[in-house]
Amino acid sequence: MIRLIRGFLVGLVLAAVPAFGGGGAVYIRLYTDFQQAPPDAVLDSIQDELAKIMSPSGLAFQWSSLAENRGNEVSAQVAVIHFSGHCGVVNSATLNSQSGALGWTDMTDGAILPFSDIDCDRIEALVRANLLAKPKQEQEEVLGRAVGRVLAHELYHILVSTARHSSQGVAKPSYSAQDLLSKSLQFEQKESDELRRYWSDLVTGGF
Ligand SMILES: [Zn+2]
Repeated sequence: MIRLIRGFLVGLVLAAVPAFGGGGAVYIRLYTDFQQAPPDAVLDSIQDELAKIMSPSGLAFQWSSLAENRGNEVSAQVAVIHFSGHCGVVNSATLNSQSGALGWTDMTDGAILPFSDIDCDRIEALVRANLLAKPKQEQEEVLGRAVGRVLAHELYHILVSTARHSSQGVAKPSYSAQDLLSKSLQFEQKESDELRRYWSDLVTGGF
């Protein structure tokens, strides 16, 4: 989802310049800002799912905490991801589900900004009934997978710089609980190709 905002965001010092040499590694740096620190198993699963969705297009990520950003890290591309709510399993079937966007990316003056919000509470509420029916050791992994899919969706908007959606796959405009719970969710070919092209330009500097 895309959120239109007015004005200009200031206050963040982020270096995004081509970073080659020193081993030639090229990656996208994700600065994360969790409202509440997630359980390790959830964070691991978010990272695994993002890698699984993005690796067919060749994209690689490094994760950093926004709070520890010193402004001196050099990356080929950066994005800042705010995770609101609690990215953990709530062990209660009685809480009401919350409707609304699971994630959104900011846009202003026709440009996509590298800032996304992921609403962990809404994602968890959407899949909770199913999560609670699973063995405990699977619950956090499945929740992390769901969050990773929403994150991949928002990163598609940022990296390809588009507000467009597809009819199927990770770039579809809204997710059902089943989309978040299914064994696998990938981009359709067109979106996967767009991401591959973006990556190729990033690695070669557009030449
Ligand atoms: Zn979207």
